Amino acid sequence: MARIRSTFAGRLVAAVFLLVLLPTLLLGAFVYTQSRSNALDDAERRVSQDSADLANRIDSFIIGERDVARFAAASREVRDFIKAQDDPEASAALQDWLTRGPFVSGKDNIADIFVLDAQGNCIASTDPARVGQSYGITPYFQEAVGGSDAISDWSLGVTTGAAGIFLASPIRGAYNEVAGVLVVELQTDPIDEILAAAFTTGTRAVLINDAGVILAAYDPGLRYRTVDALTPPERAYITSTRQFGDEPLPSLGLVTVREDLAEVAPGDTAISREYELDGEARIAALTGLQSRPWVMADVAPLADIQAAAASVPLIIGIIVAMILLYAAFATLYLTRFVVRPIRDLVASSNELAAGRLGAQVPVRGDDEVAQLAAAFNSMATEIRGNTERLEEEVARRTAELEEANRAITQLSITDTLTGCYNRLYLDQQLEGETARAQRYRRDLAVMMVDLDFFKEINDRLGHAAGDAVLRRVGHLLTDIRRQSDWVARFGGEEFVIVLPETSLESAVALAERVRASVADLTVEQDGAEIRLTASFGVAEMTHDGSDTPQGLLARSDAALYRAKEAGRNRVVSERG
Ligand code: GH3
Ligand code: MG
Ligand code: MG
Repeated sequence: MARIRSTFAGRLVAAVFLLVLLPTLLLGAFVYTQSRSNALDDAERRVSQDSADLANRIDSFIIGERDVARFAAASREVRDFIKAQDDPEASAALQDWLTRGPFVSGKDNIADIFVLDAQGNCIASTDPARVGQSYGITPYFQEAVGGSDAISDWSLGVTTGAAGIFLASPIRGAYNEVAGVLVVELQTDPIDEILAAAFTTGTRAVLINDAGVILAAYDPGLRYRTVDALTPPERAYITSTRQFGDEPLPSLGLVTVREDLAEVAPGDTAISREYELDGEARIAALTGLQSRPWVMADVAPLADIQAAAASVPLIIGIIVAMILLYAAFATLYLTRFVVRPIRDLVASSNELAAGRLGAQVPVRGDDEVAQLAAAFNSMATEIRGNTERLEEEVARRTAELEEANRAITQLSITDTLTGCYNRLYLDQQLEGETARAQRYRRDLAVMMVDLDFFKEINDRLGHAAGDAVLRRVGHLLTDIRRQSDWVARFGGEEFVIVLPETSLESAVALAERVRASVADLTVEQDGAEIRLTASFGVAEMTHDGSDTPQGLLARSDAALYRAKEAGRNRVVSERG
C-alpha cells in the first residue's frame, strides 16, 4: 500500500478509482431506486388496467341486459297484457311472446322472464312455477314499481340454488302509470367467463359486493366468502333478502381490504394496501363498478411484482462493475502513455545522478512528456560532453604539471654548467647510500676529484675557457662511471663520484683509469688546445657504525690533499 501511494502510477490509479467510485455508486443507487419504483409502478399499472377493463366489461354486460329488460317492458305484447290481464287473447299473445319472442328464456344469458302486477304478484312467466308467487318484498320490485329500472344484487335461487341477477323495469299502463313490473333474471355465467378469460391472461380477478361478499372469483373456493366479518345490519339484510340462501358466508378476515373497498368510488381504480392471504403477500387493484355498488379486484402476489424489479440490482451491479472496469483500463492506458515515460525519465535521472553519463530516455511521440525526455537527453549529452572535455583538460594540465615538476626536480638537483648532480643532491643522496651500506654491510667508496692548476686556465684563457673545461670534465666523468655510480659537482673545480658496492681497491683502480683519461684529454676552446690533469682522493665506508657521510667526504678530501701535496696528477687512497 505504501508503495502504491508513493508512486505516481499508484496515486493515479487511486485518484481515478476514487473519482469514479463515488459518482458511480451514487448513480447506481439513483438508477436502482428509479428502476425499482418504475418496475413496481409498471406492475401496479398493469393490475390497475386489468381491473378497470374487467369492471368495464362486467358493467357493459349488466347494463346491456338492463336495456333488454327496459325494451321488453315497453313491448306491445307486455303492455297490451298488463292493460287487459283477464283477456285470454292478450294472455295467449304474451305467452307466445315469452316463449318465442325476441328475448326468450335460455337465450342471451336470460334465465327467466316474468311479469309482476302492481302488487308484485307473478301473473306471467317463462317458468310456470313462478305464476302466483309474490315478489312484493323484493327490493328490485319496489324500485321498479316506483318508476325506475332496477338491478338486483347477486342472488341465489331459492329452489335452484343457481346465481342470478334480476333486472326489473316498470310497465306503463294506459295513462302512463306503473301498471306492473317486467323482470329478467340474468344468468351470472358470463361474469364467471369474463373473470375466467381474464385469469387465462394471468390475472386473478375477484368480484365483491358492497357488503364485502365475494360473488365471483378466480378461485371457486373464495366464492360466497366475505372479505371481512359482516356487520350485524349487513347480516340481517342478507338474511332477510335470502340473497345467498342459507349459506354461512365465512370471513377471510382481510380488515384492510374491506376498508379499502369502502373507499373506491364507481369508475375509479385504486391500489389496496398490502395484505396477506394463504401465507402470500398480495396487493389488489380495486375498481368500482357503475352498474352496481360492487368492486372488481385484480389480485397480484407481491412476489410477482417484486420479481419484475429483482433483476434491477444485478443490472446496476453489472453497470457499476463495467464502469469501474472501464476506469481501470483507462488508468492502465494513462499509465502506459504518461507514467511509463515519466518512469523512464526518473530511471535515467537516477542513472545520471549515479555518474553513468551515457543515460538517455526513449522519446515517444512529441507530447509534453516526449519534449521533456528530449530536453533531458540533450541536457545529459551536454553534461557528458562538458565532463569529458573537463577530464581531458585536467589530464593534459596534470601531465604538464608533472612534466614541469620533473623538470624542476631535475633542475634542483643538477649543476647547470656540467650536467652533473649538484651539492644539494650529493648531500641528500649520500645520507641514503651510507645508511644502506651500513645496514646491509655493503661496500661504498667515494672518489674526490680536483683539477690541477685550474686557476691558471682561467687566468690564461679566460673564464669561458675554464667553464668549457669544467663542462668537458663533467661529461668525461659521467661517461666513464659505471651504471650504479653517480657524479656530483662538489664545488668550483671539484667533483665527487659516489661508488656503491665498490671496495677501496676497486675505487682506486677506477680513479686511476679516470686520472689517465683526464690526462689524455684535450679541450679545444677558441682555437686553443687545453690540456689538464686532476688529483684524486679515495675513501671507503667503514662498518663500525660510527661512519658518516661527512666523515667519508672528509677522509677522501684529506687523501686528495695528500695527492696535491705529493705533486698532483695522482691517486691517493685514505689508506695509502
Ligand atoms: P691546485 O692545483 O692547488 O688545485 O691549484 P688551483 O689553481 O686548481 O686551485 P685554486 O683553489 O687556487 O683555484 C681554483 C680556481 O678555480 C679559483 C676559481 O676562480 C676557479 N673557479 C672556481 N669555480 C669556477 C667556475 O665555475 N668557472 C671558472 N672558470 N673558474 C672557476
Ligand atoms: Mg680546488
Ligand atoms: Mg684545483
